[in-house]
Formats: sequence, C-alpha cells, structure tokens
Amino acid sequence: MHRVNNATLSIEAVFGDRGLLASRLDRYEFRPGQLEYARAIQKAIDREHFLIAEAGTGTGKTLGYLVPAILSGKKAVVSTGTKNLQEQIFFKDIPFLQELLPISFSATLMKGRSNYLCLRKYKLFQQQPLFDFIEDAQLFNKIETWALHTATGDRAEIAGLPETYQPWERIAASAETCSAQQCPLYRDCFVTRMRMRAAKADIVLINHHLFMTDMIIRTAGYNEIIPPYDIIIFDEAHQLESVATQHLGIMVSHRRIEELVRDIQREMAAAHADGLKDTTQVLSVLLSLSQQFFAAFYRPPESYRIKADHVSEKLWDNYHALAEGLSSLCSRIDGMQKKTDELEQCRYRALTIAQELSTILNLDSATHVSWCELRGSGVALHSSPIEVGSELAELLYPHIRTIVFTSATLSTNGTFAYFKRRLGLDHIAPPDEIIIPSHFDFASQAILYLPDDMPNPDSAQFVARAAERIEQVIALTRGRAFILFTSYRNMHEAYAILKDRLPYPVLLQGSKPRHEMLEEFKENISSVLFATSSFWEGVDVMGEALSCVIIDKLPFASPSDPLQEARIEHSAARGENPFLSYQVPQAIITLRQGFGRLIRSRSDRGILCLLDPRINTRHYGTLFLKSMPPCQVTSSITAVKEFLGHGAPV
Ligand code: SF4
Repeated sequence: MHRVNNATLSIEAVFGDRGLLASRLDRYEFRPGQLEYARAIQKAIDREHFLIAEAGTGTGKTLGYLVPAILSGKKAVVSTGTKNLQEQIFFKDIPFLQELLPISFSATLMKGRSNYLCLRKYKLFQQQPLFDFIEDAQLFNKIETWALHTATGDRAEIAGLPETYQPWERIAASAETCSAQQCPLYRDCFVTRMRMRAAKADIVLINHHLFMTDMIIRTAGYNEIIPPYDIIIFDEAHQLESVATQHLGIMVSHRRIEELVRDIQREMAAAHADGLKDTTQVLSVLLSLSQQFFAAFYRPPESYRIKADHVSEKLWDNYHALAEGLSSLCSRIDGMQKKTDELEQCRYRALTIAQELSTILNLDSATHVSWCELRGSGVALHSSPIEVGSELAELLYPHIRTIVFTSATLSTNGTFAYFKRRLGLDHIAPPDEIIIPSHFDFASQAILYLPDDMPNPDSAQFVARAAERIEQVIALTRGRAFILFTSYRNMHEAYAILKDRLPYPVLLQGSKPRHEMLEEFKENISSVLFATSSFWEGVDVMGEALSCVIIDKLPFASPSDPLQEARIEHSAARGENPFLSYQVPQAIITLRQGFGRLIRSRSDRGILCLLDPRINTRHYGTLFLKSMPPCQVTSSITAVKEFLGHGAPV
C-alpha cells in the first residue's frame, strides 16, 4: 500500500462547498447529496456495517464511495454490474482522484478469467491450430502479434477482435481448465500476475460475475481469485440477484461436452499419452450420445421449465447411456500410464457433467428449478436457485464486515424491503440505509406524459395505437428519442409501422452492434432508437440527442419464464402475495432504470412517456407512480407542448 496522510483529509474537505472538488474544477456545482452520501459510506466503513445506499442520478456516487474507501486506508474492492462502468471507474475516476487527492493510492482492474490469455492453452493451440472459418485464422495473426508483447494478456487490448470470436475460448483462461500451481507456466501466467497486482493495490475493481465466481471457489475450499480485502462496494447492486442466480446454479450443454472432448484430445496429443486412437473412438461415441440426449430438449419456446412429463423413460435411458460414456472415459483416463494433471482435471470435468445432469433431471427441489434454454442450434440445461438470499446469507455476509450496496434504483415505493428480501438481507442484522434524491430538478427538467386514451396492452389495437402516439410525441422533440419495448414482437411491429413514416433516422436494435448504434444515435442528433431490455440500463446519452424516452408497457417480467414462474410459486407458498411482493417491485425497478436514461445532466430536458394505461387504471398503478421521478405528470399532449415551449429548448 502506498497511502500517506489519509487521516488528515476529511470528507468535507473533498466534497464540501469549498472542498477540493470545488476548488479544482471549473463550473463545479456543490452537491449536498454527494456529501451526505459520502458521509454515510464513511460511517459504514468506520463502524464496519452493511449499508444500502440509493443515490439518485447526478449524485456523483462513484466519487462518493471511492473517496471514503481511499481515506479509510483499508483495502477495498469495488464490484460493478457492467464492464463499461468498471472501465469508466478505472480509466476516468481513479486517475482523476489520483490527481486530485493529496494522497497516494494504487488501483487495479481485475476481469473474469475468460478475458485473459491462458499461456498453456495458447501453446497447445499453436501446436495444432484448427479453425472453423478462414476469417478466424486470419484474425488469429493479430492475436499472435499481440501475444508477443502484451503485459496483461487482457483481450481488450486487441483492437478489432470481435466479442464473438470463437477461437478465443480455446486459448482463454478458465477455472475448468486451469491447473493453477501445478501448471508449468503458473509464474508467468497473466491471471497469476493480475492477482499479484491486485494483492498490492489499495482499490481493486472487479465485476459481479468475478465476485460470485470467487465466492464459490472460496466456499469450495480452493484458492481464491480476489485477494483478501476489508470492504466490498457493490455498484449497480440491483443486478446482484440475477448474477448470483447464474453463478449459484449449474448449466450443462452439448457444447460443454464438445469442449471437454477437444481438450482431452489436445492434452493426450501433447502428453504423447498412450491409447490415443482407442480414446478417440470413445470420444466420438460420447459426442453422438450427447447429441442424442440434448436433441430431445430442442423444441419451442425459447426457455421452459423441465417438468416430470418431459423426463420420459427414453430420456432417462439416453441419460444413462451418456453417463456411462462419461464414466468409461474416466476409467480410460484413470488407466493411462502418462496421466498428466490436465488429463486428471478432464476426468473430474467428465464426472461433474454426469452429476450435474442427474441433478437437472431429478427436477425441481424445494430450492432449485430445472429448465431448458434454446441457444442457437443447441440447448443449455439449467438448475437454478429459486432464492439466492439464503445462500448469500450463508456464503457471503458472515465473511465480510463492511458491504455497501449502491445503485440509482434499489428502492420501491420509498423502501428497500424488496431488495433486502431478494438478497437475504432480511436474514441478518439490519443494514444501515440511505436514499439520496437525484441532484437534478425533475420538476423543471422533465414531464411524465401518461396518455389516458390508450387501449390495454393486450388489446389487438395496442401496437397500432402506440405507433400513432409515438409519432405524435416525437414530432414534438423532433426525433431524439429512445423507444423502449418490453418485447421484441412489439418492437418489430411498431418499427414496421413507423420506419417509413418518421422523418428522422430510425435505428433498430439488432440491426448493427450495440456500441455502433449508440454512437450513431449520439452523432445523429434527430435519430430515434427502437430497442428492448438491453437498452433499459447502462446507456448514457447526455444532451440534446436524447430528449424523449417512450416506454410501451409496464415492464413486468413474463410469468412463463421458468425462474419467474418458480419464484412466483415460491412466494405464494410462503403465504405472500407474489404479485405485490415480487412482480410489481421488480417491474418498478426496471421502469425506473428505463426512465433514468432521460435526464443525465442539469441541462437535460425532456419527455418521459408511458403508453400503458394500467398505471392509471389498476390499483397497483399508484405504487409505480410513487416510485417515479418527482416531475410534473400529465395526460394532456397540450401540456407536454407547453412544457417544451418553456425553458431551454430540448
Ligand atoms: S495457471 Fe492456469 S490460466 Fe495460467 S497459464 Fe496455467 S493453466 Fe493457464
């Protein structure tokens, strides 16, 4: 650690109206909310408490938690929901604070293993480079040039390498294929070096996926990835439940078996292991058994719960044949004379796959749900925890003294009851809580337009009427709008109606990569973007390019989604009203995220519009209204026009 002098600097000296920020930044605006937020974080750190802190948009939350963490002199880990935020903190906020504060501190970025080149796999791959496409082989040259000089092994350094570049998986680090200290390249390994940097740093930036992976590895008694720390701050904490669900569950697919087969072949060839020819036959039988087994699940819809009537006798027969194939593979590896650690690891992977498949086929337990997801031309079978709260209460909370959960959207109807229930924070000593309202003046910056003449969203006329209203509203802002849909179907239908009618550039989600589309949206001021869930959060467009956010429906998750369905049943079985205690608060948080896209600075102005009449006609509508930003609400388009006529033009 390199910190000096941290005890002499107070929170007020940084965030106060005459503090460091005010004195060093031109046009700095004192934010009382940021000061209050930073004080609450400091108190939680000093007292070693848990804190749930909602900070409305514009609070300056990142600096608000980084500064108290740095001043504390303790080692802090900051975990974000998205890579974007993680990189923004590392490349923007940290250097800014290193410059601003009269304190020396170090920070490092840790990504999930799969972002790093595995030197051992890379070496093996170079001995036997096989590509499915010629373009893949051409791109591999870039990797080879980069690998000669990279200091971090982080794939983000390779300009122009698509996210979807398949061969990367074959050379990337992964928990399943890493033999850690037994690996001959362990000392030079990029993952080892990343961990060493993290061990020395004062602030370590990670993401929720890495955090959950680490938590599970620690629990299983293996070497942790993240070095020991005193404080964990979860930013974008509203995403924690879904990330924890992914990591605390299991998933098996044909692809996973294919990868195992490929790794065994490669390891055997590299080790000159005996019986390669016979084993190749066993592996090819295994692949066809796997194909046969998974093919039985390939049917619509895109995701469904695996129920007793799906698990026929024939399916069990197929499973037993596959499990036997995996077991004979294990015996074969056991019997090899030149059995390397890596082959031993493959044996363990084969055993795990058989066990996990059996868990999935044995169907729902009181705590888990089995379900199937179609992925391209294949399927993935899952067993996911219905509630992650009790697992977090056991695996996480007793082991860390200070945890901060923060986000702009954690509360519903002014309380954290829903968030605490979902994360098991109601099973432990009550955390401290704070809600900091947005720094923006919603009353003058935004208007919430709720037309009262729309049909119900399940009516056959809904999309056509929604399209008419969208056209009318965005004529007022001359384009510059996000139109956010709760389903692809509605998005495509509305787009088909409007694409030739709108006199603005129209962008449709999926028609090009997300970042390109966002760049185009920002550059082309009058453009209109049609999008679904992935644009509801993490999108930051400041200024006039975004003057209107229109949402088609209250964003209730589909009750037929397997996890959603199981959670609804579980909540009902506990005697709760699942609609009010689970589905409504979940939708409120999503809606707040969606509307949160509009006002990103003090000078932004614009329209929020919800086309779903249920917010006014159903009893639960008031719960949504109470959770909306404190802006003027109207059902009159004339009032919207008047609002836009006042103040700075949108
Ligand atoms: S230690 Fe693991 S990740 Fe690193 S080079 Fe070896 S196998 Fe790959």
